[in-house]
Amino acid sequence: MAVSSSSPLSRTLRIGIVGFGPFGQFLATTMMKQGHTLTATSRSDHSQLCARLGISFFRGMNEFIEAENDVIMLCTSILSLTEVLKSLPLHCLKRPTLFADVLSVKEGPREVLLQVLPEESDVLCTHPMFGPESGRDGWNGLAFMYERVRIRDEATCSSFLHIFESEGCRMLEMSCEEHDKLAARSQFLTHTIGRILSEMEIESTPIDTKGFQTLIQLKDSTIRDSFDLYSGLFVHNKFAKQEV
Ligand code: NAP
Repeated sequence: MAVSSSSPLSRTLRIGIVGFGPFGQFLATTMMKQGHTLTATSRSDHSQLCARLGISFFRGMNEFIEAENDVIMLCTSILSLTEVLKSLPLHCLKRPTLFADVLSVKEGPREVLLQVLPEESDVLCTHPMFGPESGRDGWNGLAFMYERVRIRDEATCSSFLHIFESEGCRMLEMSCEEHDKLAARSQFLTHTIGRILSEMEIESTPIDTKGFQTLIQLKDSTIRDSFDLYSGLFVHNKFAKQEV
């Protein structure tokens, strides 16, 4: 494996992305810029976009799994995680692999990963607390939550975390449960209010106050995320139900 010039502890990785939607594409761009080698698979055909980005896209799960990635990064929707994981031919993995998810809820996915993945696979649960809008101009100062759920290959795990550290993210190690409690009161609430504002069809006026402009921005940024994402924040975070 090549040694990255940015840190003696970080290596360039072969990263396989499962779910090449908006967030997978967003993360892939920075990972490519850092020199990692990427492959991807997804429900839809993203082969043309991948070809433009220099990423190998596999329609077939077998070929994807056999590509011998150091890390398989799960970027699929919260609602589809179980179905997608179960469709991966995990018996074809050629060696122990780090599975890292980036889903916006954590406790449920953590349980699913531990149930479905082979015991020899390492598991890192993460949530980059930003997206294509908030991270458009870089990730410096943006929060990155993670829980080292089952890590034996320290070098691969550190190199993966270094992707975010080296971009200046605020690295926050905490349990998935703690994340979900905090996120229900912050992220889920933000999305809920943004969607209510969208239902109310609020629009800019000639006499906008700063506060109202903030509401318009919130509405605009919230509705760029898919409804699946919002549903996942509610359905798969038991703490979210206490907020409504
Ligand atoms: P999303 O709507 O949450 O997920 C879209 C992805 O899920 C696409 O790759 C899509 O595949 C796949 N997918 C959806 N339903 C599927 C199904 N039934 N079977 C197989 N694949 C399915 O949008 P996203 O913004 O890209 O988010 C991806 C993940 O990142 C989510 O878990 C989200 O919680 C997390 N996340 C998002 C953000 C953000 O700002 N957007 C930030 C942090 C974390 P195709 O594209 O192939 O159809």
